[in-house]
Amino acid sequence: MHISDFVAIDTMDIFKDKENEKMAIRNIVQVGDDVLRQKCAPVEEFDEKLWLLLDDMKETVKKEEGAGLAAPQVGILRRVVVVDVEEGYFEFVNPKITKQSGEQNGWEGCLSVKGKQGVVSRPMKVTLHFQDRNGNPFVLKAKGFFARAICHELDHLDGVLYIDRASHVEKV
Ligand SMILES: [Zn+2]
Repeated sequence: MHISDFVAIDTMDIFKDKENEKMAIRNIVQVGDDVLRQKCAPVEEFDEKLWLLLDDMKETVKKEEGAGLAAPQVGILRRVVVVDVEEGYFEFVNPKITKQSGEQNGWEGCLSVKGKQGVVSRPMKVTLHFQDRNGNPFVLKAKGFFARAICHELDHLDGVLYIDRASHVEKV
């Protein structure tokens, strides 16, 4: 078990993957599609299929300039998310929030809810247990917008969208 306080630089390096010619942009499912309302199953095989999914999710979230993307948003009902924030780019397989504290209110958008944003209350700090693409376990602490992005993406794995939690939603 590797423990990082907030974000360790060497942890970030682990997630840097090589340019992969097989990478592809995947279509993002939009709200109204039942796939976004399902509970995702844990990843059990850390194989090339998972790696290709993660590579594609990276290319997709970068192209769409999102802060994160969850596997059900590309139609895959597995517990896989990526987060792309100031602290770095992260891949979380089988992520689970084990501790949370504080509260923050702020705006969120979602690549599956185009043209809208909403105010959502989230914990200020979270502790996340997860596995990397090879199945190695990690613990990470995040705060602020990074914690918000983690909470938002993990909700997707249980069929929850930010619009379910928002106190206010408006068009952008
Ligand atoms: Zn989302």
